Amino acid sequence: MTDEKPKRIKVTALCELCHARKAVMKRPKNLQKLCKECFYNVFETEIHNTITNAKLFQSGDKVAIGASGGKDSTVLASVLKTLNERYNYGLELVLLSIDEGIVGYRDDSLATVKRNQIQYKMPLEIISYKQLYDWTMDEIVSCAGIRSSCTYCGVLRRQALDRGAAKLGINHVVTGHNADDMAETVLMNLLRGDVARLEKSTTIVTQSSGSPIKRSKPFKYTYQKEIVLYAHYKKLDYFSTECTYAPEAFRGTARELLKSLEAVRPSCIMDIIYSGEHLVLAPKKKKVTTQYKNKKKLTEQQQEEMEINPDGSVSLKSKKQEFKDGNRCEKCGYLSSNKICKACVLLAGLEMNRAKVTIDNNTAVDGAAKLTKTLEQLSF
Ligand code: SF4
Ligand SMILES: [Zn+2]
Ligand SMILES: [Zn+2]
Repeated sequence: MTDEKPKRIKVTALCELCHARKAVMKRPKNLQKLCKECFYNVFETEIHNTITNAKLFQSGDKVAIGASGGKDSTVLASVLKTLNERYNYGLELVLLSIDEGIVGYRDDSLATVKRNQIQYKMPLEIISYKQLYDWTMDEIVSCAGIRSSCTYCGVLRRQALDRGAAKLGINHVVTGHNADDMAETVLMNLLRGDVARLEKSTTIVTQSSGSPIKRSKPFKYTYQKEIVLYAHYKKLDYFSTECTYAPEAFRGTARELLKSLEAVRPSCIMDIIYSGEHLVLAPKKKKVTTQYKNKKKLTEQQQEEMEINPDGSVSLKSKKQEFKDGNRCEKCGYLSSNKICKACVLLAGLEMNRAKVTIDNNTAVDGAAKLTKTLEQLSF
């Protein structure tokens, strides 16, 4: 009789959740070894928990998915469709795409969105910068230079998404911003000392002032690497080429820094978001200078309207409060809390530059420099 050795089971190769199927991956978020089915399950359930904890939707809501054809928004469309059916959210989902006018990038990615429209059986609306602003991003870059391309693009896209949603009678747009994007933003604002933006950088629901349309990020806690794995295993149809105009240089640096940190400590992405969420800024000091106290007695109302800036200068708050939510931009007529909306301020600068370029090519450099200065002065 020969002793038959029991077959050695490689425990490490078994899924750490179901203990039945073979693990095919190490989960990027916590290095857990999982089978495909358990990965789909935890991935989708975590997004469902994010949605329900933040009470993002109500039954009967019409929701637009900001769809670029890239992995994030494609996975978002797929997962929202799955969750909407599984948990009976009662949502009406629509794909909303923005065509920035970037030849060789957006035209190809829009072809992917058109296929997604058929695959997910969702209506699709495409809004272009050209039709809204009479500028394409290619034209903007050739006029203002590549340096500020993402700043222009960001302002114009936010308004385009709002306008597209309003056209569809929708007041909620979901975007594919993920945990990595959010941690990058926290890092960038922290490194720049931009405390005003730092405070808002982890909010799951945002809204431009004056706009009735809210934007939310169901992937707030979802790692980019997991989105890629999900798209890969589910064989989703997405477009993977990067935009011709690289993301702004500082974001690129923050991204590299985050990648190095994640390699040593995978939880750092969640930890940075957690830190951002729990950061409480000291209230702005409201004080009246001794000069004013001693020489001139100010009425209480005047003191309330006055704000002492960090550089010691004084600004009056009342001017800013003149234009309230619900007001319209004097130029384009779109809802804006300012007299002229941010998009129109940028476009006016571009128009001036375009006129100058036509007269004299040499002034293009001056014009681009001036526009960059205007951008730096604007606070978005
Ligand atoms: S990388 Fe910049 S220019 Fe390109 S689509 Fe994104 S925001 Fe626009
Ligand atoms: Zn499993
Ligand atoms: Zn406007």
